[in-house]
Amino acid sequence: MSGLDLEDEPLEVLPGVGPKTAGKLAGGGLERIADLLTVVPAGYRDRRRPLAPGAVEIEGPLAVRGTLEAPRLIHPRGRGRRRSLLLARVTGGGGSVDVRWHNQPYLMQRLEEGSEVLLCGDVRQGRGGFEMLNPALEDPEGEGPAVTPVYPRTADLGPARMATLMEAVLDRLKPLPKLPDPLPENLLKRRELPALGAALEEVHRPSESCEVELLRRRGTPGWYRLVYGELVERQLALEELRQRRRELEKRRSPGLDEASRRDRRLDLRNLAPFSLTSPQETALEEILDDLERPFPMVRLLQGDVASGKTAVALLTAAAVLRQGCSVALMAPTELLAEQHHATAQRWLAGMAEVMLVTAAEAGALPTSDAPRLFVGTHALIHRDDLPSFGLVIIDEQHRFGVDQRRRLVEGEDRPDLLLMSATPIPRSLALALHGDVEISVLDHGPPGRSPVTTELWPRRQRRTLLRRLKARLDEGAQIYAVFPTIEGGRGESRLMTALERLEKAWTPHAGAVLHGRLSREEQRRAVQGFASGEVRWLAATTVVEVGLDVESATVMLIEAAESFGLAQLHQLRGRVGRGAEPGFCYAVHGPLQENARRRLEAFAGTGDGFELARLDLEQRGPGDLLGARQAGREGLRAADLGRDQRWLERAAEDAPELRARLAAGELPALARRVAARLERLGAEIAA
Ligand code: ADP
Ligand code: MG
Repeated sequence: MSGLDLEDEPLEVLPGVGPKTAGKLAGGGLERIADLLTVVPAGYRDRRRPLAPGAVEIEGPLAVRGTLEAPRLIHPRGRGRRRSLLLARVTGGGGSVDVRWHNQPYLMQRLEEGSEVLLCGDVRQGRGGFEMLNPALEDPEGEGPAVTPVYPRTADLGPARMATLMEAVLDRLKPLPKLPDPLPENLLKRRELPALGAALEEVHRPSESCEVELLRRRGTPGWYRLVYGELVERQLALEELRQRRRELEKRRSPGLDEASRRDRRLDLRNLAPFSLTSPQETALEEILDDLERPFPMVRLLQGDVASGKTAVALLTAAAVLRQGCSVALMAPTELLAEQHHATAQRWLAGMAEVMLVTAAEAGALPTSDAPRLFVGTHALIHRDDLPSFGLVIIDEQHRFGVDQRRRLVEGEDRPDLLLMSATPIPRSLALALHGDVEISVLDHGPPGRSPVTTELWPRRQRRTLLRRLKARLDEGAQIYAVFPTIEGGRGESRLMTALERLEKAWTPHAGAVLHGRLSREEQRRAVQGFASGEVRWLAATTVVEVGLDVESATVMLIEAAESFGLAQLHQLRGRVGRGAEPGFCYAVHGPLQENARRRLEAFAGTGDGFELARLDLEQRGPGDLLGARQAGREGLRAADLGRDQRWLERAAEDAPELRARLAAGELPALARRVAARLERLGAEIAA
């Protein structure tokens, strides 16, 4: 049988896989041998060099060997669901480790008081010392591979079942090193990667002498091969999707001759009360070009905080309104929506009506069909009395879920889509996340801005800091003080708890409070008071993160800074330094864990949003940063879009060559894989 036929076999050819198991697997998208080959270990068990319980010093995946004591089975009956708990202890080397097994009552038969056991699994620091949760129970004298892969629960099959299944698959493809690779050899050579068979062998059947830490970090050639393979396939699928979109036609057609188009472009600029920066000019031109194309635009406008994205958005809206179509502009908070609404009303006065659509402003909309700009929050999505849009603009797009974004653009009208984000991400990653998207970048803001100095302050020196800030207030400065929560959480992070402290420290200067639980009227009053200068300091939650634009405020105090992500810290800092006066940001923090320390040091170390985004990505992955789809949903198992950016770039580089070969009918195995991915992605990346 050729490799291709082997990979195409249904899973029932595997021993022990009947219709029931096959059904479950199919439910998880695993139907053929090739699909199962995409499953990768979530970790590794290492039974070499087991430690005595007394020698355990750090948390982590470990093998512990010792004497089993006091095994006992407990059956708490909780709300109809019966869960068993098995407790025991291993001792030796002058110490002990507590062990717990959930839902594995059958293990009790194998646990003999006083017997020697080998446990492999995660060791954690518990309340009473180190403990292991659900470790694998192994025979210390038994034979077996030194390092065993541990599989994630997949398609409703547990780790043990998956392990047997993966064994069976790999056996079926024996000898693995001979397995044909869907990727061409020249490419693997260029990227210094082993062929698929060798990679599978290394990842699923580690050798006696393997470096298990590298395997766990997915940092071995075999892992790289799997990561690269996934990303290449995904890239090819994305490009196919892009191709397909370009064959669509948007309903709205420009229908203008060249000359009038040019004229209109020029006088668009007159709507802005200032002249555009050169990156704004470039971005606007790119967008206007898109608008004139027959297929719908999907463009991401990236620009650091205060780089001037709104201006570009409003001029784009104006262009489409002039073409006779309505426009939606969606923002993540009411505050921001209101601010956009106010700006838009000023800019577009006399040209088109601008409506505000938030949960609070749910009034009926006029029924005439003159083109309008609808500015709102996600309330826009839920209105069914809105006209169809020629353009949808989504500000701070990563704050919306994919489904929310999609809701606004789905349907027959195929509006142009402009996404905006203050979180700059590398192009390769943007492509990988959004699939098909063009990118415009505002790489610097309008002139006359001042840099922001950032300092980290340990919590115990807060008094000194507050005193210093009092002096600033005396000199006429205005201050934002930002807290992670209104009332919940620990003392330091609570806005309402801190209020008294601030009032005491900063009297007689007038302060105000701003958070999401206040009424709209109260919020408006606080913002207006602060903007007019009457209110000298504003104690707020992260509602101020986006959209507040008060030039005279120059100081940002962030409490419990360790509880914020980098992107968020940077956005907060972006509230100051908006005018000619230099800005200052003080990040107050409690005791820091390693990750938080690195985050805050990076934050204080650079004001460059691109740099911070890169670090954030490395630390946290792209998930919450970008409102990304879950990788799992689109079938990324080995690759991680945050960690594997290097491979992402390579995959993007190599894709054109592969595309050409696929178009020429070569590489049939790769073609099949790409087709499978396309099916999955197609549903995900409609937006
Ligand atoms: P962001 O990119 O963070 O959304 P905004 O669009 O809110 O930035 O712009 C930040 C501030 O800069 C606003 O006060 C806006 O009026 C001002 N601004 C934007 N573009 C220019 C420009 N070309 N010249 C002068 N000021 C500008
Ligand atoms: Mg903005």
